[in-house]
Amino acid sequence: MIRPAALVLTAGGALAAMALAAATRIALHQNPIPGQEAGEVPTQTSSGQIQPRYSKSAYDITPLSKERIAQLAAALDPETYRITQKAGTEPPGCGTLLDNKKEGMYVCVVCGLPLFSSEHKFDSGTGWPSFHSPFDPDHVAEVEDRSYGMVRTEIECARCTAHLGHVFDDGPRPTGRRHCLNSASLKFFEKGETLPPESRPVETETAYFAGGCFWGIEHYFQQGPGVIDAVSGYMQGHVEHPTYKDVCGDETGHAETVKVVFDPKRISYRRLLEAFFVMHDPTQLNRQGPDVGDQYRSGIYFTSDKQAEEARAFIRQQQETSRFRGRKIVTEVERAETFWPAEEYHQDYVSKSGRPCHIADPWKK
Ligand SMILES: [Zn+2]
Repeated sequence: MIRPAALVLTAGGALAAMALAAATRIALHQNPIPGQEAGEVPTQTSSGQIQPRYSKSAYDITPLSKERIAQLAAALDPETYRITQKAGTEPPGCGTLLDNKKEGMYVCVVCGLPLFSSEHKFDSGTGWPSFHSPFDPDHVAEVEDRSYGMVRTEIECARCTAHLGHVFDDGPRPTGRRHCLNSASLKFFEKGETLPPESRPVETETAYFAGGCFWGIEHYFQQGPGVIDAVSGYMQGHVEHPTYKDVCGDETGHAETVKVVFDPKRISYRRLLEAFFVMHDPTQLNRQGPDVGDQYRSGIYFTSDKQAEEARAFIRQQQETSRFRGRKIVTEVERAETFWPAEEYHQDYVSKSGRPCHIADPWKK
């Protein structure tokens, strides 16, 4: 859960967001859909929906549509429009943020995405605001620019493609780079000011599902449109720091469980429950297909009373459908206890190993 403190810009705000991202293993580039190269970012799911994108610091960086960009750009003054939408440059020494020495965050003037932080700003003597690093490399896209008979690297907002300036290799340590900005492309928020919603990280929610072997369940949850991260692990047992071997021994009480961190604005808990029931058979007691033992039991471990109500109502409704006529759903619904992430070799197992996965794709229409 993103703590409210991270929503207001504080001295440690950026770092808090980074730490949070690391803690939740936001792994945008680590889980390619089969058929895609690692590092490629999927833009569509198997059902044809746009796949939302999240940065390492937990911001929604899904590219905005042309229509949405045009709408936002229509509100800009003519000079800001020329610079951000037509790759213009403001005269040196004139920008309003050149001499700004206050602590705070520089966001995209068009879409509000945080782009640069005061802690990376330096006086380059060029007449344009300069930074040695972006706030998050995922937020600033680099594009080759061959205008004016030169080869330069243009920088754009990764979410709305607003032109920001250029980046050069003559900056100070630690990066040796100089991000040369137009003040007009940026809007500054001083430390302590409340940022607007479009400039805040995603407020995530966490859900836990046990449905037999976690490899396939994790694989497909990771592909959910609005799922930020899925992690394999062990839960609801009575031993601390369990290993795979301990859990296989059938005596720790843990279930192989997948932790799903999601963006509730993009995907509902209900949709996750539906996907979970597509992926496994909730009528099998303490087993799932060939995998037998209580570590393979079916379980939903809720993190709020609202999730508990929704899960129980969903199971009641499913029990009435023809799919489950004459077969009792045995899924346990319990309050989430400590989640123990599984060993690294279990994470992203299907995509890393290339092994085929026989469970049904819950996102296919
Ligand atoms: Zn933008």
